[in-house]
Amino acid sequence: SRQFFVGGNFKMNGSVDSIKSIVSNLNGAQLDKNTEVVIAPPALYLLLTREHLGKNIEVAAQNVFDKPNGAFTGEISASQLIESDIKWTLLGHSERRQILCESDSFIASKTKHALEHNLGVILCCGETLEQREANKTTDVVTAQLAAVAQVVKDWSKIVVAYEPIWAIGTGKVATTEQAQEVHEAIRAWIKKTIGDDVAEKTRIIYGGSVSEKNCKDLAKQKDVDGFLVGGASLKPAFVDIINSKI
Ligand code: 13P
Repeated sequence: SRQFFVGGNFKMNGSVDSIKSIVSNLNGAQLDKNTEVVIAPPALYLLLTREHLGKNIEVAAQNVFDKPNGAFTGEISASQLIESDIKWTLLGHSERRQILCESDSFIASKTKHALEHNLGVILCCGETLEQREANKTTDVVTAQLAAVAQVVKDWSKIVVAYEPIWAIGTGKVATTEQAQEVHEAIRAWIKKTIGDDVAEKTRIIYGGSVSEKNCKDLAKQKDVDGFLVGGASLKPAFVDIINSKI
């Protein structure tokens, strides 16, 4: 069975003081020991977070580049993250796909490079409202994953995050049925494209307006293996989301 996984994506939020206070709140909380927890502060605060956070929680970057150290102004390398004890990265978040114009193939290349350096990757995928209304959700999401499957064979350090764009930061969470349906389709696609064992083992987590109120019902869905939490990960209620299985 798959270990429940809850990620906190702080996006471009926080300050030294607020991040210290989030970290101390997590350090003092009773967290479900069966749930894997990873938080992703802005790059500037990765070291501060790692320094203060208990070892029961891992830290993720929100992005990483696809080349070794070198002349790439503004970027951070996988080896720099690893050296700093940052063991995960998000990749393919819709905000980066849309606002920073990241392509499927660029995200695939970054995923491959991150995995080669032993980072875990929270690989995000998801459709727009327009694509959902045109019944293209499964096609869109599986095409995003297929770009990665073309260059990555070992999926053991990938967590797939399904994040419908219309649900991100809108308060409009997917229904339990909508989430389960897409997660099941993603698992079926992995089974067909990559293999039975990978399909059985890969965590598929949901993101988009997850709150302490809606997490328990979503967590009961057969193919929902955790959450990627944005806004609520900055609040004390994040603890309730981490504990949604208990
Ligand atoms: P919200 O939880 O704020 O909707 O954000 C979800 C998200 O994008 C996490 O990566």
